[in-house]
Amino acid sequence: MTGPMSTGTCNLCGKGFAKNIMSRHLKKCLQEQAASPGGKTQKTFWINVWGTYLPDYWLHLEVPASAKLADLDQFLRDIWLECCGHLSAFSINEQRYEVSVDPDYDYWGERPKNMKSRFYTVLKPGLKFDHEYDFGTTTELSLKVVAEQERAGQSKEIRVLARNNPPDIRCFKCDKPATQVCSQCIYEGPKAWLCEQHAERHKCGEDMFLPVVNSPRVGQCGYTGGADFGNEF
Ligand SMILES: [Zn+2]
Ligand SMILES: [Zn+2]
Ligand SMILES: [Zn+2]
Ligand SMILES: [Zn+2]
Repeated sequence: MTGPMSTGTCNLCGKGFAKNIMSRHLKKCLQEQAASPGGKTQKTFWINVWGTYLPDYWLHLEVPASAKLADLDQFLRDIWLECCGHLSAFSINEQRYEVSVDPDYDYWGERPKNMKSRFYTVLKPGLKFDHEYDFGTTTELSLKVVAEQERAGQSKEIRVLARNNPPDIRCFKCDKPATQVCSQCIYEGPKAWLCEQHAERHKCGEDMFLPVVNSPRVGQCGYTGGADFGNEF
């Protein structure tokens, strides 16, 4: 899918920006909201995440440096990925980190580690890494550590700094906004995306349809959407 430049919303000030200038904006916006001197602060990583093959789905996150890989895995599941409890893994500097590592399994190549590693022990600014959810119908994400910074307080929460606005996807038949996607035809391109009315008449039948949601897992397996993060998204 190539279309107009993806846009998103800054969660700090509520304003909208094109994808390619969001990082520059966030840098400024974060500085303006910087901790007042004297209070407790903690080290955090600013992380940009996007769908490896669907880059119009993207997030900028702020993650405490003391968080575990498992915390980010859970966060990504909640906002973008979870359908039926599939396995997942990070790959960082050619090392795999999996949710559950079977000690008896005879791994091909190097044995993966678990996700208990803390961010500051495995990540540094500029580093790119990957995440996979579901080793069958896989959703692949790319991640990059944009910067290391300080934030006020000791909260262990992962914070959404910015998120893409839902891409403008139209019904293949009538050009109204698409609300349903056929999970069978999705690999064949735009004809899988339909409005309610045209979905009813589609050849594959109702059971094949999934709702159009703002996630790189849209239309995959049984994915129907993520948790509400209490903002306008
Ligand atoms: Zn802003
Ligand atoms: Zn599933
Ligand atoms: Zn239609
Ligand atoms: Zn179909």
